[in-house]
Amino acid sequence: MIVLKFGGTSVESVSAMENVLRIIVREKENKPVVVSSAIAGATNALLTSAHLALEGKLDQAHATLNDLLERHVVILENVLANRSNVQSLIFHIRKRFDELKILCQGIAILGELTNRSLDAIASLGELLSTRILADAMSERGIPVELVDARSFMITDDHFAAAAPLFDEIEERIRPAILPHLDSGKIVVTQGFIGATKQRVTSTLGRGGSDYSAAIIGSILNAEEIQIWTDVDGVLTADPRLVPTARKLRVISFREASELAYFGAKVLHPSTILPAVKKNIPVIVLNSKRPLNVGTRIVADPPATNVPVKSIASKKGITVINIQSTRMLMAHGFLESIFSIFSRHKTSVDLVSTSEVAVSLTIDNTSQLGKIVTDLEKFAETTVYQQKAILCIVGDQMHSTVGVADKIFHALGDINVMMITQGASEINMSLVIDEERVDEAVRRLHRAFFEPAPATEIFEPIEAV
Ligand code: ASP
Ligand code: MG
Repeated sequence: MIVLKFGGTSVESVSAMENVLRIIVREKENKPVVVSSAIAGATNALLTSAHLALEGKLDQAHATLNDLLERHVVILENVLANRSNVQSLIFHIRKRFDELKILCQGIAILGELTNRSLDAIASLGELLSTRILADAMSERGIPVELVDARSFMITDDHFAAAAPLFDEIEERIRPAILPHLDSGKIVVTQGFIGATKQRVTSTLGRGGSDYSAAIIGSILNAEEIQIWTDVDGVLTADPRLVPTARKLRVISFREASELAYFGAKVLHPSTILPAVKKNIPVIVLNSKRPLNVGTRIVADPPATNVPVKSIASKKGITVINIQSTRMLMAHGFLESIFSIFSRHKTSVDLVSTSEVAVSLTIDNTSQLGKIVTDLEKFAETTVYQQKAILCIVGDQMHSTVGVADKIFHALGDINVMMITQGASEINMSLVIDEERVDEAVRRLHRAFFEPAPATEIFEPIEAV
């Protein structure tokens, strides 16, 4: 069996849903379990309506819900042909929205909104998208079984970010899904949502559908997990900066993890960990271009002669330099620095140290003032803003001579303020001025990917 996971943009419109249906039919022989997100924007709209209700803005809450209801109706009216199916589904959906409105009234009256209620409200998005998808399949004669994820995706009760209870899921998922696959049906289920052992609806946290897909695929030993989204996969660079950027056919899990921080808008690597641990390939594909082969994320890709796979960047970085002669040969200095960041709940991304100085980067500056005040109690502190991180990633960078030389040569007159190399030696990150980072990405891309290295792993992105 395989898992097909569709993100919100894959089910957000009639034409997107038609693509999804084609993909499902194409994969029919592989016994797919289809995991779907809510239609794009639905989860946000649902959560917004709850918060509006909490603020007593019931009219606005209702208006938000009415818009969302309308979006679902438009999709289902165009994706379903049978009038009585359309009528009964609209009836069902209206009822669910009416219930939500009553819930919103309750929230407004009580002035209380718990994560538990938020999960109950947010779950409607996935429940509706999967219902429409399943009805569309059966109308087209595709044998389908809609399985409520809450019957097997058992979680703890940390609502809004519930942790899956793997033993409980293992016990329930096989009987919930396998008999349907064995009888030749395609199973459709919800991503993101689950339930506690007491059957209270929970969610795995925002963006949790990828995680659902990985959990289902890993427990059922899927041959592969296809994550259908609206990007072509992992690229050698941001195509808005580098029009000649290429797609990577395969990338290691470690490389993908390094790139995730840079907003490679693909998926969060931690969500696919269950699959990677079991060596199940995860493939990122674009549902708008179903014939593309996508990017395979695997634990150990075959070695290539390409040291660098991708160049990423992130603007809006703040560098903090901390100097103290007291640091020289003193123990506990780094600990006292990091405890300040931790106290102010600010995560540190890059760190480089010398004997008397520490440089580090942050991207969230909401607590910067307090952090600096605390640091200045024992060290000289300087802050540099409007910096950017440039990240060069490749599994084989460490075993290739001359990569650093090539990087600095390509950068030419662009001043490098900080250099770090991860312990994994699969990436090098440089901090430079924000205003020069786009140019730096282009220069590096030219140096490493133009002309394209002679290997099968790169593919032009315009290929369909
Ligand atoms: N619909 C949920 C969200 O928007 C889960 C997901 O799309 O992965 O966070
Ligand atoms: Mg998503």
